[in-house]
Amino acid sequence: MKGLEWVEAEINEMKNNESFRPLTELESDQRAKVMINGKEVIQLSSNNYLGLTTHPRLKLEAVRAVDTFGAGTGSVRTIAGTFSMHEELEKELAAFKHTEGSLVFQSGFTANQAVLGTLLTKEDIVISDELNHASIIDGIRLTKAARSIYRHTDTKDLEEKLKEASGYRTKFVVTDGVFSMDGNIAPLPEITELCEKYGAVLMVDDAHASGVLGRNGRGTVDHFDLNGRVHIQVGTLSKAVGVLGGYVAAPSAVIDLLKMKGRPLLFSTSHPPAVTAACREAVRVLQEEPERIDLLWKYTKYWKKKLKEAGFDTGKSETPITPVMTGEEKAAHELSDALLEEGVYARSIVYPTVEKGKARVRTMVTSEHTPEILDEALEAFIRAADRTGLQRNE
Ligand code: PMP
Repeated sequence: MKGLEWVEAEINEMKNNESFRPLTELESDQRAKVMINGKEVIQLSSNNYLGLTTHPRLKLEAVRAVDTFGAGTGSVRTIAGTFSMHEELEKELAAFKHTEGSLVFQSGFTANQAVLGTLLTKEDIVISDELNHASIIDGIRLTKAARSIYRHTDTKDLEEKLKEASGYRTKFVVTDGVFSMDGNIAPLPEITELCEKYGAVLMVDDAHASGVLGRNGRGTVDHFDLNGRVHIQVGTLSKAVGVLGGYVAAPSAVIDLLKMKGRPLLFSTSHPPAVTAACREAVRVLQEEPERIDLLWKYTKYWKKKLKEAGFDTGKSETPITPVMTGEEKAAHELSDALLEEGVYARSIVYPTVEKGKARVRTMVTSEHTPEILDEALEAFIRAADRTGLQRNE
C-alpha cells in the first residue's frame, strides 16, 4: 500500500537473509507432545515448565469463573475492573512471596513497564545488566532516569557503576533472576550485598524462576535465602504458572504507588475472570504439588547430561532453559527445521534476540518430559545435527 513500501522492502530483505521466520501454529493443547502441521512432535519450546496449562484444577476454576463472573471485566482495574478475585490472588501471592503486598498486571511485560515507568524519574539512576529482558529495556526507555549498563552478571563492573553513580535520589539496580536465552542464574547474593553496601534499591525479574527455583517455585530470592533483602520482585503467571499475567511483590508503599500511577493498570483492561481464577488456583497447586518441581529438575538434569554426552554445546545454562549452540544463524535455522522433520519442535533463536554469532536452538524441559520422551528427542537431535553438518564434540 502507498506509503508503506519500505515495510515490504524490509520484509523482502529479511526473507533474503533468512531472518524472516513464519510463526508456528499449534493444533493441540500445550503438552510434552503437540500437534504441528498435522503431525505429533515433541514440544521443547514452551515455558509450560510444570504442565499447568492443562491442569484439571486450573481448567475447572477458569470455567467456573466464566459461568459466575462472565467472559470479561469491562474496565481497567482503577475504574470498575477490580473484582474480589483479583484482590484474593494478590493476597495469596504476597503471602507466597513473603512480601507486604503484590499487584497483578496483564503480563510480566507490562508489570516491568509499570514498575520501572513509575519508580524511575529524572532524579534517579538505573543500573541494568546488559542482557536483561526486552521488557526491562523498554521499561527503562519509558523513563527520564540516567542509565548505566553493567557487563553481564559481572559484579566487579556493577560495583564500579555503583561507585560512579552519585548525586541521585535512588540508585536502582535491576537484573533478571534467570536469563531467558542462556538459562544462567544471576549472582543474586553478591548483587544484594553490593546494593546494601551502596544503598541501592534492587529489583529482580523472576519470569523464568517463578515456579522453577526456590521453595515451591518462589523464585531466585527464596532460592538464595534472600527474603526481605530484595526490594522488588517481578514474577510472571504466564510461564510455569501456566496461565497469563505478571505480578509485582514489594513493600505496601510501592504497591500503593503502582495502583495510583502504574500505566498498564490505569489504562488497560484488567485480567478476565477465567484467567484470574486459573492463576489463583495455580498458586495453590504450586504449594500442594511440589513433586512437579522435583520432576522438572530431575528431567532437566537428565536432558542436559544426555545432550552433553552426545557432544552438544549447551552453553552456561543452570536451569531448564538449555540452549544448543550453533554459532551461525543459518545453522540454527537449519537445525530447527531438520528437528521438526525428525519429530521435535525446538525454535531457533538468532540476532537480535541474541548476539550475532551466538545463534542457538533453545530447548526447555518440563515436568511432562519423561526420560523416554527425552531419549526420543535426543535421537532426533543427533539425526538432525548429522543431516545439517552441525559439529558435535564426541
Ligand atoms: N521478563 C523476562 C525475563 C521474560 O523472559 C519474559 C517472557 N519472555 C517476561 C519478562 C515477560 O513475561 P510475560 O510473558 O508474562 O509478559
